[in-house]
Amino acid sequence: MSRTRTPVVADWFAGEGKSFRLLGTRCSACTCVFFPREDRFCRNPGCEGGALVEVALSRRGRVWSYTDGRYRPPAPYASDPELPWEPYTLIAVELEAERMVVLGQGAPGVSVRDLEVGMEVEVVPGVLDEDGETTWTTWHWRPVGVSA
Ligand SMILES: [Zn+2]
Repeated sequence: MSRTRTPVVADWFAGEGKSFRLLGTRCSACTCVFFPREDRFCRNPGCEGGALVEVALSRRGRVWSYTDGRYRPPAPYASDPELPWEPYTLIAVELEAERMVVLGQGAPGVSVRDLEVGMEVEVVPGVLDEDGETTWTTWHWRPVGVSA
C-alpha cells in the first residue's frame, strides 16, 4: 500500500529533488521577504504595505548555528514514550539574498559532528513522520556535496 505524501504545513515548500524550494512571500513595496510566509500584511514597520507575492527562497545558504536534541522534550510535546528517542540535528541557516535565518532539521545521517558555522548547506525534501496512510513531508538541510 502506498502512502499519500502530504506537506506537514501547506504552501511552505514545493517541488521535488533539485527543484525543491522553500516558499516565502515578498512585499512588492519594500522587497522584504518573509518565511514562514506572511500573506496578510507586510511586517516591516517602515513600510506602508504592498502586495505579498509568493517567492521561492534560495536553495543554498550557510550554517549560522546548530544544535542537537538528545532528550525527549517534556509535554506538551507529543511523542510516543514507548519508542526510543531519536536524536535529531537542528540547523539555523542564513540565506544571504533574503537576509534571513531559516531553521530546519538536518537530513538523516547529518549530525553536529558534520557541521561547522559558515558551511554551505542546501535544502532537500525530507520526511517528518509516517503513519498508516500518510507520509508527512518537510524540508531538511544537508551539507553541499553530500549525497542522499
Ligand atoms: Zn513592505
